[in-house]
Amino acid sequence: MNSTTKIIGLLGHPVKHSFSPDIHNYLFEKYNQNSAYCCFDVEEDKLKEGVEGIKALGIKGCNVTIPHKVNIITHLDNIDKNAKLIGAVNTVKNEKGNLKGYNTDGSGFVKAILSKGYDLENKKIMIIGAGGACRSIAVELASKGVLSIEIRNRSINKASEIVRTIENNFSTRILCSTEIIKENDLDDIDILINTTPIGMETDLCPISESISLSKDILVCDIVYKPHNTAFIKWAKRNELEVIYGIDMLINQALHAFYIWTGIEPSKEDEECIKNLYKKTIE
Ligand code: NAP
Repeated sequence: MNSTTKIIGLLGHPVKHSFSPDIHNYLFEKYNQNSAYCCFDVEEDKLKEGVEGIKALGIKGCNVTIPHKVNIITHLDNIDKNAKLIGAVNTVKNEKGNLKGYNTDGSGFVKAILSKGYDLENKKIMIIGAGGACRSIAVELASKGVLSIEIRNRSINKASEIVRTIENNFSTRILCSTEIIKENDLDDIDILINTTPIGMETDLCPISESISLSKDILVCDIVYKPHNTAFIKWAKRNELEVIYGIDMLINQALHAFYIWTGIEPSKEDEECIKNLYKKTIE
């Protein structure tokens, strides 16, 4: 570090278990950027001062995590179109004192799928869960032109809100229900995504494990700990292709890095970071 080092940080509370410094400092070094990533533990009632600090100190950008992802919006100067529809920001870029907010959760998920060679156009999607992650994924999938999205969630209110947002802004067909998924519900589905926390540090599965499938469906779990969740194991028993939670996690960081630097990290970087990460979550 020297007198021209640019700082990029994480705003959240707590922040001490974040893996973001490892990812971004690896990338800064690899791409010869005189930048450093550090974590700022900002309590909920100090967010306004925290954001003012970004401007005052000339911090180049930041990631935003719990509990600030929604509340930070009112303190920013510009919000990217999809982040506005999602209603949450996880990345901020300081453009000469003008702070612009982005959401790279859904775009990271989409990038994880596309970078593995899958196509999204005209695909039929089913999403389990209707929280913040579902909302960001649904907006990004709709903006990429998927044909239809069906949300299954244990309660209806948040799912209905997502349906309204997609209907009002995209041509993607969308519906939601609280029905438990049955085998024949998947007959017409191309991609099945778990966005509930079910499976996080347990061996619970968000779908009945007795369902057996003979058609090709891409199964994605956004839960990343453990790496092989019960949902991923169910998919593998059915010989289905899978996308892991870690793929979204890393790709949302890679997209944030691109927003700050204009540099698109390589496939090799993704693999390298994944190997570092896997060691911490297995
Ligand atoms: P959230 O806003 O709290 O939403 C969770 C959703 O799951 C809600 O719709 C909730 O239903 C449903 N749900 C929760 N527990 C359930 C249960 N026991 N049975 C059935 N449904 C249940 O959470 P989120 O921010 O969307 O995150 C969801 C998960 O994704 C978390 O585990 C998080 O760590 C993970 N995640 C991973 C990444 C990644 O990069 N891989 C990124 C973001 C999030 P109700 O609406 O009825 O409450």
